[in-house]
Amino acid sequence: MTVAGGAAAGAPSGLLGPELDWAAAEAAVRSHDEVVLVCHLNPDGDALGSMLAFGLALRQRGSRVLASFPEPFVVPESLRFLPGLELLVPPSQVPAAPGLLVTFDAGSAARLGELAGRVATAGVVVVADHHATNTGFGTIHLIDRQAVATAVVVEELIRRLGVDLDVPIATCLYAALAADSGSFRHAGTTPAAHALASRLLAVGVRSAVVCRELFDSHPFGWHRLLAEVLGRARLEPAEAGGLGLVWSWVSAADLADLDLAADQAESLIDVLRTAREADVAAVLKCYGPVCHVSLRSRGRVDVGAACLAAGGGGHRLAAGFTVEGDRTVAIERVRAVLTAAPRITP
Ligand code: AMP
Ligand code: MN
Ligand code: MN
Repeated sequence: MTVAGGAAAGAPSGLLGPELDWAAAEAAVRSHDEVVLVCHLNPDGDALGSMLAFGLALRQRGSRVLASFPEPFVVPESLRFLPGLELLVPPSQVPAAPGLLVTFDAGSAARLGELAGRVATAGVVVVADHHATNTGFGTIHLIDRQAVATAVVVEELIRRLGVDLDVPIATCLYAALAADSGSFRHAGTTPAAHALASRLLAVGVRSAVVCRELFDSHPFGWHRLLAEVLGRARLEPAEAGGLGLVWSWVSAADLADLDLAADQAESLIDVLRTAREADVAAVLKCYGPVCHVSLRSRGRVDVGAACLAAGGGGHRLAAGFTVEGDRTVAIERVRAVLTAAPRITP
């Protein structure tokens, strides 16, 4: 199977209602005084940045706002500079049946961990997202499968609600945009993405500070971890149908030995994926009975479809899945789903 440029691999067609229902989303927000916000587990810059930007905008409108994400309820060190962290409450404090629930950067209800059940108990569920594999699990959808970040959708909703961007809101949105575009390097960095960045910078975002916090700040142990993980990396040119696979792994012992939090392993793939001999890079994060697998493609293999086939999801060039078993089981699954994965035509 071949996926034409721009098409959303694995996009479900059974969505009830439009993918971008601005009017309904705006009406839902305007008719609720209290709004509960949730984003995907182990939040990244887009998940947390988009959610906090929206929370701050709602607070400006006078709404009561609660924001949360599933356990482990720990904000990654690289995101602790984000404005609006005071809106966060642990998942145990999220109301059992929120009147209005808004989800951020989650392609499926399962990505909300133990908060997934709130999708069924909430009165209205607005899904703000940009994943190719989004299942359309809300009652109102704001899904732009072409957008480089969920922040793109969130900024538009904030504008439609008539809230002016201030420095804290713009900083959250800029962090989300920079995080998911890999500092404006990845596919999806369109003129529109740069235009949004320009608007945010004009508000007064300190781009150098945001990017240093997001990308260029690690405890020294991270450098040791990087050396370890790169040292054990394997290049398998025959995998991914001959397009090549480069992969490595991280264990709980690696993190414990270096006294590192799990989020320090998230950026390793950004180094591994620069190996030009392999179209696909994989990092297996095996900390217990399951392995979390991150896949990245340099442009030829639809890893979003591959991860969907493995029970996960994501985007065409950046995706992930979780597999029960150790790293031997995980890498076999990676090889298998890559063999069957669709190619992307340039
Ligand atoms: P990661 O490799 O964890 O940085 O994730 C890359 C992309 O794939 C992100 O957009 C994630 O939201 C998505 N993703 C990662 N793991 C999963 C999973 N288990 N299920 C669905 N989507 C995932
Ligand atoms: Mn995300
Ligand atoms: Mn995202």
